[in-house]
Amino acid sequence: MTARIIDGKAIAAEVRAEVAAGVAAFVADGSPPPGLAVVLVGDDPASHVYVANKVRQTEAVGMTSRRYMLGAETTERQLLDLVERLNADPHVHGILVQFPLPPEIDTVKVVSTISAAKDVDGFNPLNVGRTATGMKGALTPCTPLGVMRLIHSVHADIAGLGALVVGASNVVGRPMARLLLQEQCTVSVAHVLTTDLERRCRDADILVVATGVPGLIRGDWIKPGATVIDVGITRITSSSGTERLVGDVAFDEAIHVAGAITPVPGGVGPMTIACLLANTLSAAQAAKEEACAPA
Ligand code: NAD
Repeated sequence: MTARIIDGKAIAAEVRAEVAAGVAAFVADGSPPPGLAVVLVGDDPASHVYVANKVRQTEAVGMTSRRYMLGAETTERQLLDLVERLNADPHVHGILVQFPLPPEIDTVKVVSTISAAKDVDGFNPLNVGRTATGMKGALTPCTPLGVMRLIHSVHADIAGLGALVVGASNVVGRPMARLLLQEQCTVSVAHVLTTDLERRCRDADILVVATGVPGLIRGDWIKPGATVIDVGITRITSSSGTERLVGDVAFDEAIHVAGAITPVPGGVGPMTIACLLANTLSAAQAAKEEACAPA
């Protein structure tokens, strides 16, 4: 068997086209375009690249973007003041604070200060609770949201399937498990202390891996025909000095066993920014509905 490759680049392009159409309709209806504010603290080179990509893709779908590049010496109070100003700004519908933040700044405090209505990353505790309980209108973390779309490119209906999420972070693993449960999968979550990971993987119809451990999941750990989503991204340097990105799944082995699999790169990665744009449009639409609702 050779697995079908799930083309994240193509599916992300579909999502961006849907968002662009939604933005055009929003503007045609007389509203200013949705606006995303991206805040970066410090000079982490990888974060600068992510922010530049986000800004470029935001503008490409017709939304406005604002970039706030703050120095590494920025205090927690200064960052919270900026977030509060953006919360109150009617032209800003989505606020994204790029992580990691410098260690002196309390990430939880920052995430909790972002208005739930503008929390396009979906990390504010209100949105975490809304996603967990399946409330309509919750802003859901972008990577798990993108993974659900990739899974649905293979399965119209996942109710009753067994899913294993390997990795239990608040950014990926936990919200991922909640979304799969919401769609009636039988979900297990594994983490670094889980025993007998190999056997648990072999039981999964849907295997989502987000650990950051390159090649952790071997081909013979996978249930034949399973759908395998590799969220992991690690940059490795070969002995000759060339760099490449690798996932958490041994792709060359897994492709002979799985039914469908995401590549790294070109699988989950492109979906994350596409879903950020989708969340920003949803936030703008919700703000407009609220403004139009009778008092
Ligand atoms: P994290 O470090 O916060 O969490 C890693 C999780 O993996 C933890 O729950 C840990 O217990 C578990 N884990 C670690 N080693 C393990 C092992 N040997 N066996 C089983 N579980 C193990 O990481 P994160 O933020 O969730 O990110 C995970 C990976 O996903 C990273 O490679 C990251 O770069 C990638 N990522 C990709 C995207 C994307 O857009 N494609 C987005 C977010 C994260």
